[in-house]
Amino acid sequence: MSNSKIWLSSPHMGGAEKKYVEEAFDTNWIAPLGPNVNGFEKDLENYLKEDVCVGALSSGTSALHLGLILLGVKAGDEVICQSMTFSASANPIMYLGATPIFVDSEIDTWNICPIALENAIIERISKGRKPKVIIGVHLYGMPYNIEEVNKIANKYDIPVLEDSAEALGSSYKNQKCGTFGEIGVLSFNGNKIITTSGGGAIVTKNKEIKNEAVFLSTQARDNAPHYQHSRVGYNYRMSNICAGIGRGQMEVLDAHVQLRRSMHEFYVNLFKEIDGINILKEPNSDYFSNHWLSAIVIDPQKTNGKTSESLRLALEKANIESRPLWKPMHLQPVFEKFPYYGNNIAQTFFENGLCLPSGSNLTDEDKKRIKEVLTNFFR
Ligand SMILES: *Cc1c(COP(=O)(O)O)cnc(C)c1O
Repeated sequence: MSNSKIWLSSPHMGGAEKKYVEEAFDTNWIAPLGPNVNGFEKDLENYLKEDVCVGALSSGTSALHLGLILLGVKAGDEVICQSMTFSASANPIMYLGATPIFVDSEIDTWNICPIALENAIIERISKGRKPKVIIGVHLYGMPYNIEEVNKIANKYDIPVLEDSAEALGSSYKNQKCGTFGEIGVLSFNGNKIITTSGGGAIVTKNKEIKNEAVFLSTQARDNAPHYQHSRVGYNYRMSNICAGIGRGQMEVLDAHVQLRRSMHEFYVNLFKEIDGINILKEPNSDYFSNHWLSAIVIDPQKTNGKTSESLRLALEKANIESRPLWKPMHLQPVFEKFPYYGNNIAQTFFENGLCLPSGSNLTDEDKKRIKEVLTNFFR
C-alpha cells in the first residue's frame, strides 16, 4: 500500500474548469469582472433557487464583512456570533469596531443554541444594547436549527447573517442553505465543497443589496467619468479567472455532495461497532447536510481513555490528516474578553472532537488505510 498523504479535504476538479479559464484567456477577460463572473453568479442563483441574487466576491470573509456593513453594523454596535466556528465568522465584526457577543452550541446540530441565543438577546437588551445582527453558522455543512433561530430573530426583529461558507449543497426542509438569512455568505476557498482557489459570495433576495455589495466591492465608484467617491470602498470583487473555475465546479457540485455524504456513511458504518463515538449527523429528515467534513466527538469514558488527540496522532503517524474541531471563539486569546452566553457545550465538543478525512476525491485505497488505523486504534 502506498503511504501518500491523505488530506482532510482537498480541491477536486471536475474537468470543465480549464475550459472556462481558457475562455477567459482567449477573450482577454483577465479582470475582476467578465462573462465568467456573470455566469458563475447565474449558476449559483439557479442552484440556490428562491429567486436569490448572488454577488461573487474575493472570499467568504469579504462577503461577511460586506454583509455586516449592508446590515448597518457600525463601530460600537454589538453583533451575536456562534462561538464554535472558524475565526472568519467573527473577525469582520472587529474590522468594523463592533463588539462580538458569543453564543454556545446545541447538542443536536453542534451549531448556535436557540436557548442560549435568546438568553443573550434578552440580557443585551436589558443593558440597553440590542444586538444589530445574529451570525449563525452551518458548521461542517450541518444546518443550524433554522426554524428556531429565525423565530427568535423575528421575535426580536434582528437580521440574520447566515454563514453558509461550509454548507453549499446543504438544505433545510428542502430549501438550500445560504437562502435563509437576510444575507447569506458562501466560500469557495481551496478546502471547501467547491473551490475557485479563493473566493466567496453574498446571497440575498434583495436586488438592491446585491447591487450595493457589488458597488462597495469595486471601490464604491460614483457614476462619473473621473474617479469620484462618496463612500468608503473595498477591492472585494471576484476575478474572472477564479469564476471560470467556479463555473466548472458547479457542474460537479451535486456529485461532490453525494461523495461527501458517502464518506459520512463510511464513518457511520465503521463506528457502528465502536462504543463512545458520537458522529455529527442530521437530527431528523428536515436536515440535509453536504457533510463537508465528517466530524466525531469521543467520550473517553467509553473508549478506555482513548482521546481525540491520541487518535489524531495515530492518524498522523499513518500520514493521514485529521483536525480538532473549531476552537470556540470565546476561548481564543483574541476574543476571550468579550461576552459569552452558554453552558460550555462547544468547549466540550472542542476538547473531545476530531474532523476526519472527508474529501470527495478519496479512493477505495485511502478508505482502506483510514479504516485500518481507526479499527486498530479502537481495538
Ligand atoms: C471558510 C470559512 C469562512 C471564510 O471563507 P474564506 O473564503 O476562506 O474567506 C467563513 N466562515 C466559515 C465557517 C468558514 O468555514
